[in-house]
Amino acid sequence: MRKMRRKGLASMAVQTVASTTNSTVDLGPAAALSCRECGHRVPLGPVFACEECFGPLEIAYDFSAYDTEKLRASIEAGPANIWRYAPLLPVPADVAGKPNLNPGWTKLVKADNLAAELGVTGGLFVKDDSGNPTHSFKDRVVAQALEAARAFGFTTLSCSSTGNLAGAVGAAAARAGFRSCVFIPHDLEQGKVVMAAVYGGELVGIEGNYDDVNRFCSELIGDPAGEGWGFVNVNLRPYYAEGSKTLAYEICEQLGWRLPDQLVVPIASGSQLTKIDKGLQELIKLGLVEDRPYKIFGAQAEGCSPVSTAYKAGHDVVRPQKPDTIAKSLAIGNPADGPYVLDIARRTGGAVEDVTDAEIVDAIKLLARTEGIFAETAGGVTVGVTRKLIESGALDPAKTTVVLNTGDGLKTLDAVAGTGLTATIRPNLDSFRKAGLA
Ligand SMILES: *Cc1c(COP(=O)(O)O)cnc(C)c1O
Ligand SMILES: [Zn+2]
Repeated sequence: MRKMRRKGLASMAVQTVASTTNSTVDLGPAAALSCRECGHRVPLGPVFACEECFGPLEIAYDFSAYDTEKLRASIEAGPANIWRYAPLLPVPADVAGKPNLNPGWTKLVKADNLAAELGVTGGLFVKDDSGNPTHSFKDRVVAQALEAARAFGFTTLSCSSTGNLAGAVGAAAARAGFRSCVFIPHDLEQGKVVMAAVYGGELVGIEGNYDDVNRFCSELIGDPAGEGWGFVNVNLRPYYAEGSKTLAYEICEQLGWRLPDQLVVPIASGSQLTKIDKGLQELIKLGLVEDRPYKIFGAQAEGCSPVSTAYKAGHDVVRPQKPDTIAKSLAIGNPADGPYVLDIARRTGGAVEDVTDAEIVDAIKLLARTEGIFAETAGGVTVGVTRKLIESGALDPAKTTVVLNTGDGLKTLDAVAGTGLTATIRPNLDSFRKAGLA
């Protein structure tokens, strides 16, 4: 089943590698690309699908030389951004000196007010990734893809995007001196469109949904028109995906080199959730955290819930859906990493759950009212799902729980459009008193 779905992508991937693979690239500890399904290894290059079985390629590392305590000390002495983890990422050793947006090291907020409201007693934290340079977690993944693009000699950065990625690519390209040309569904939120356009790159609206945009980009990669282009989430996807590991690293380091018991993570393509699990596994193997169980919970919007639908039905394949939700950043109807998300949720004892658009709006307001954090719709999805999982008993309120907020509410103002003035008064005390606010 998986094989057939990936066949088209793999043949394009093989074409690309033939023209651009360069075995002398310096990407630090990254040793090769390895197939997630069959383990087949190929040299580092701009390829993303296995030539043997069409499975997705991942970065394989050589961490064997690392001493745990020296590594911990070097991380702790590193910069307050993702490059403190450079020895665990597919980037050159001197990456901190290259022009990029230096994302990461965002706040892990101890959310005691929200915990009280939800009845969590074991410690509730919000990892607030709206604090990144373009106000979403996407700066982390783009920073890795940018280094791969430099290493492979690409000069144009591109992507298919549900909005946040377009802005992150535009900004990173501007700073690093790349051309950018990015593709989005034509009907995104104004905040996302403006944030993507302002950096001066080319922004193309496609008449269709994200899955149409992604299909178009796959075609473009196989065509001479796309030659020399680094698509951060297509032909550079193995590198891009590694950026999400930094969320796992930061959460554990900020908890004092400790694994949380439970994490609630949003799902669009499923890449972020999959790589958070990979990051936690690496920390365990490296001895940086104690090896003990953790549970990963996936969060979707009901209007685009292919993974939670499969989870609840007990399936291990994900049937595509046509998205219809205000959580546009998560509106991927055919998520590439869906089957892996199901594996991880089941293996760790987590779950995948979804919430309605109304519940998303409620959760955005709840987080804002209790913690002073204004989340985009994706944050409404994770907070809403957290509340639902506590009510159903799937999430243990007595355990340490980390909820991800991956984007900024200023980009999705329409979601809370009914929120506004408490009163309009004349500029005198009489009028103020009459409004009942004294
Ligand atoms: C892209 C995105 C995600 C997660 O995307 P994956 O494709 O699952 O890695 C989560 N939140 C926001 C706000 C995003 O833009
Ligand atoms: Zn394979």
